[in-house]
Amino acid sequence: MSSAPDFQQTLAKSASLSGTSLHTGEKVTLRLLPAPVDHGIKFKRKDLQEEPTIDARIENLKTVERATTIGEGAMRVHTVEHVLAALSAMGVDNAIVEMDANEPPIGDGSARAYVEVIRKAGLAPQEKPRQAFTVREPVHIETKSGSLLVVLPDEKYRISCTQVGPGGRFAQFLSTEITPAIFEREIAPARTFVFYEDVQPLMEKNLIKGGSLENAIVVRGEAVLSKEPLRFADEFVRHKILDIIGDLALFGPRLRGHIIAVKPGHGPNAELARALAKEYAKTVPAIQPRAFPPGEGGLDVKQVMEVLPHRYPFLMVDRIVGFEGETKITGVKSVTINEPYFAGHFPGHPVMPGVLQVEAMAQVASILMMKITKSSSRIGYFISADDVKFRKPVFPGDTLFIHAELTKARSNRLARAKCHCTVNDAVVSEGELMFTFL
Ligand SMILES: [Zn+2]
Repeated sequence: MSSAPDFQQTLAKSASLSGTSLHTGEKVTLRLLPAPVDHGIKFKRKDLQEEPTIDARIENLKTVERATTIGEGAMRVHTVEHVLAALSAMGVDNAIVEMDANEPPIGDGSARAYVEVIRKAGLAPQEKPRQAFTVREPVHIETKSGSLLVVLPDEKYRISCTQVGPGGRFAQFLSTEITPAIFEREIAPARTFVFYEDVQPLMEKNLIKGGSLENAIVVRGEAVLSKEPLRFADEFVRHKILDIIGDLALFGPRLRGHIIAVKPGHGPNAELARALAKEYAKTVPAIQPRAFPPGEGGLDVKQVMEVLPHRYPFLMVDRIVGFEGETKITGVKSVTINEPYFAGHFPGHPVMPGVLQVEAMAQVASILMMKITKSSSRIGYFISADDVKFRKPVFPGDTLFIHAELTKARSNRLARAKCHCTVNDAVVSEGELMFTFL
């Protein structure tokens, strides 16, 4: 297991590729361009007015019929999965995929051309570590049509896939780790395939104008029709793996886990990407560890900032006025008209947003947690906020007192805090927050 930091990468320079789009049959040029750290992969439609861009993220998924389509407003980008698979598997974290059509060129139906254009551009390391999601507990989805996708904990990114055609024909299985070298050699060349019985309805729906034996393998009965012979005896399952990689690229962070896929497809793949995004969101740390200053008294703002990583305008506590034994803490926040949110919340009628009071509770409670668990080397995760009530509005000029009482601390790992905020001794908000410490 490697513990060396894994850094983000972009392209060393831009490179382009031209061809035909599968669904519209039109000519399209795709250009890959470098992008800064934390940019992610974005598609850019050069052919539209104002050249809109869109994040290749699961939130932007629109349809999964035959191919994966993302969109925002009226703008669509179709068949993103092969170019995304190549970018993701070849290790490109940040790039702009610029196109003068609504779909990338289909090439020969595989991801080979995209790997070539990435090679042409070259890779450039960047200064920030990658976001990664190491799966710790199995994540799974199952569909009515019999698809089953499971992600098991694994230090590597692996995929084990079973593909089955209509009537159980062409059942294939492959299990492989996904590395740039393996992807380029074993997965990228695998072409799109269609079963003849599926083609007719697609043509009726006007979905495959650019389709031909040049860019897809057609299976009719037991016969395999293609311009070029099969590149692998199990080319179909390899292409299924290619699609899984591309669709899961919409999830974002680098995945460390073993995907077991039975009858995958764009629909189930997207569902898994969503499930992973949900699991990942739970692990994002709310509180970074900081050294806790010694002593029992209150904390001034400098000491608060030594404990909490938050900074203006997101530091919601000015000082800690006191601890009461091991379980109670009180913090203070002076709410001034200079708070940036008052400009928009609301113009002419400034009110402190309730969610920021919950954030203030979380910050104060976590200071207490860090004090009693001496958790300077641990990370706290905010799990839930229950029974949150906002009783009175908080205005500029108010002094907010934030009270937190620890109600449960099990095995140093789980803590529950009952919190409330007061202004002039009247409760303005309350809630019960839960944390875990890893
Ligand atoms: Zn595909």
